Amino acid sequence: MSPLDERAGFGGEPGRWKGLDPATIAIAAGRGPEGPEGAGHPVNVPPVLSSVYKAGSEHHYARSGNPTWSAFEEVIGALEGGRAVSFSSGTAATAALLDTLPLGSKVVISEDSYYGTRKLLGDLQERGMLTFTTADVTDPEAVIGECEGASLLWLESPTNPRLAIADIRALTGAAHERGIRVVADNTFATPLLQRPLELGADVVLHSVSKFISGHSDVVMGVIVTADEELALQIYDIRTSTGGIPGPLETFLALRGVRSLPVRLEKAQINAGALAERLLGHPAVEQVLYPGLPSHPGHELAKEQMTGPGAIVSFVVAGGADAADAVCDTVHLILHATSLGGIETSIERRARWAGEESTPPALLRMSVGCEALEDLWADLDKALRAV
Ligand SMILES: *Cc1c(COP(=O)(O)O)cnc(C)c1O
Repeated sequence: MSPLDERAGFGGEPGRWKGLDPATIAIAAGRGPEGPEGAGHPVNVPPVLSSVYKAGSEHHYARSGNPTWSAFEEVIGALEGGRAVSFSSGTAATAALLDTLPLGSKVVISEDSYYGTRKLLGDLQERGMLTFTTADVTDPEAVIGECEGASLLWLESPTNPRLAIADIRALTGAAHERGIRVVADNTFATPLLQRPLELGADVVLHSVSKFISGHSDVVMGVIVTADEELALQIYDIRTSTGGIPGPLETFLALRGVRSLPVRLEKAQINAGALAERLLGHPAVEQVLYPGLPSHPGHELAKEQMTGPGAIVSFVVAGGADAADAVCDTVHLILHATSLGGIETSIERRARWAGEESTPPALLRMSVGCEALEDLWADLDKALRAV
């Protein structure tokens, strides 16, 4: 038994679900006690709403463990191939991971990456806690050039919002040669399409708020690593800093992950079809989707991912005003931020402060599971109107 198993509620022995397809793991793992011990237990681990446990076991107080977390963590750990620790948000997971760094550490992060992560790094840098630099992750030389003296390389692939593809295996190899730990934000791909730990990364991070929960009704995060010592450190940071998820949120996320394989399959088919149609649309200047052969990361995406995902970014002809008009005109497609829900949503990324480097007329569309022809009719009508 590892020290992790002695921690209250650490879910899932790594390797328990090895050899099964991720689509099966998403459904089968995390269902509580197995075999004769499981007789009479519910097939869905319920949301356990208790702040304290009766004395006499490893469970004491619910800031350090909860059976609903354990079930969720077992599924995500099995999908990514490591130990999972869940958090109250993707950002709380990010903060916990940064908390593992010694004071004054240097972080290298992809310049096109989730804005909140770069913002947090900026705030910490301002307070003298760490330093960070950015690099174009599609240019390995540039990334390696920034790695001098760094402790952590923060990758995101596909990137947000340009959907650039980073060569995770090559960059991880170069970072490891320099003693640098590598984290991959796998929110856009999900473990169904990409498993960064298998490509060499040390840590995977997710905003569970997106595809994993999948219904735009939960804010949650998770960290996964196969490094037991690091997992233990992250677990202890969660207990001591308190960024724990609520049991109800965790239950919803667990319910969401059950249908991730079918949701993603359908959303990806829709995304591929919409990307191709957008490519030929007179009101569209550029389409960024790794599934298109014209995308610069297409070949790499085919090598390291099992599918290009369900996010499509495209640049509208006519500039920011035209792009805003598309968002105001779509009716079925929701004009809203965020991504990964079962419903299709769209937004102009550069409307956010801090996204100044994003093309002003770039729309990021998170494609959902509606009927393709209804989505296309809505989008085409809005594009023709501008
Ligand atoms: C949303 C998001 C985050 C932050 O997660 P929250 O759950 O919103 O805190 C981090 N990375 C990526 C890629 C995201 O899309």
